[in-house]
Amino acid sequence: MRAYNFCAGPAALPTPVLERAQQELADWHGRGLSIMEMSHRSSDYVAVAHKAETDLRTLLNIPDNYKVLFLQGGASLQFSAIPLNLLGKNARADYVHTGIWSEKALKEAQRYGDINVIEAGRTIDGKFAIAPQSEWQLSDNAAYLHYVDNETIGGLQFDFIPESNAPLVADFSSSILSAPLDVSKFGIIYAGAQKNIGPAGLTIVIVREDLLDQARSDIPSILKYSDQAKNDSMVNTPATFAWYLSGLVFEWLLEQGGVAAIQQVNLQKARLLYDYIDQSDFYANPIALQNRSIMNVPFTLKDTNLEKIFLKEAEGVGLLNLAGHRSVGGMRASIYNAVPLEGVQALVAFMQEFAKKHG
Ligand code: PLP
Repeated sequence: MRAYNFCAGPAALPTPVLERAQQELADWHGRGLSIMEMSHRSSDYVAVAHKAETDLRTLLNIPDNYKVLFLQGGASLQFSAIPLNLLGKNARADYVHTGIWSEKALKEAQRYGDINVIEAGRTIDGKFAIAPQSEWQLSDNAAYLHYVDNETIGGLQFDFIPESNAPLVADFSSSILSAPLDVSKFGIIYAGAQKNIGPAGLTIVIVREDLLDQARSDIPSILKYSDQAKNDSMVNTPATFAWYLSGLVFEWLLEQGGVAAIQQVNLQKARLLYDYIDQSDFYANPIALQNRSIMNVPFTLKDTNLEKIFLKEAEGVGLLNLAGHRSVGGMRASIYNAVPLEGVQALVAFMQEFAKKHG
């Protein structure tokens, strides 16, 4: 039996996807070899790659004037690729700081330009929240405005899409495909695959066409969006297996009814867990209601000495990877698309039992 996996990334994958991949792996459509061993230029593989892109376009309703790139290097490489592609004559960009990932992104960008940091995290009644945009000091001349939709470690999520005259660039690594998104509001959306898309090794970049050709001329071709777009993300050998498997996840998601349907399940899961934490005096969540992530739920126990026992007992009943990020401690349940409602129900039942025993 498969356990419920609450890992923040690489994260749970849908069981039917893994079973299908297993079936297809030994022999791809009678060709006598697996998809992993096939040239990325072969017609079989190109069809797989193309289908994955088409399905992602359908899922997110991506307009025709956007390219979808399937790259490597993780979201972290995009922290550099974005300034290298977008900081042209105008070398200033605005970066909204809300947590650990937005800080990593702005620190990388500071190597390449003049970065205006907008401190948007604040505490209200002891809970962490995102300051409204009316309080931000945006630049008049920024090449773009960058923010992280969902801070995976803090469990802090935007409840709005910022307004900006400059192109909006957003890291959706831990929230892409969890809810419908109006792509047309963005210049660039990027995401490491290993949370809500597929396995590690693949990074999706959705980029508006007018932003393709602004890159510095001296940057590597692999990082240059225009080169990758011209070459269908195959400037070099792409992460073929991760791309294939992500395609299977997209098909699975379409079968679930698409992003609007999975959002309803995600909301139900998040509500169940937060409601339980809120009525308990044994567990606590540090985030203000409006900015609580529906994907990553950090929580603390009344007594930190119980953390190790909590994790051990949880693992004993098949509830895996509930430790918080090593930089913040505590617990964190990542409840991405592939974690079923039953998984969260099992977690809440376990938390109830644990609190009764140790409270
Ligand atoms: N951005 C966010 C919001 C993340 O959660 C992560 C990884 O956890 C990253 C960026 C870094 O992603 P990668 O490991 O793909 O570089």
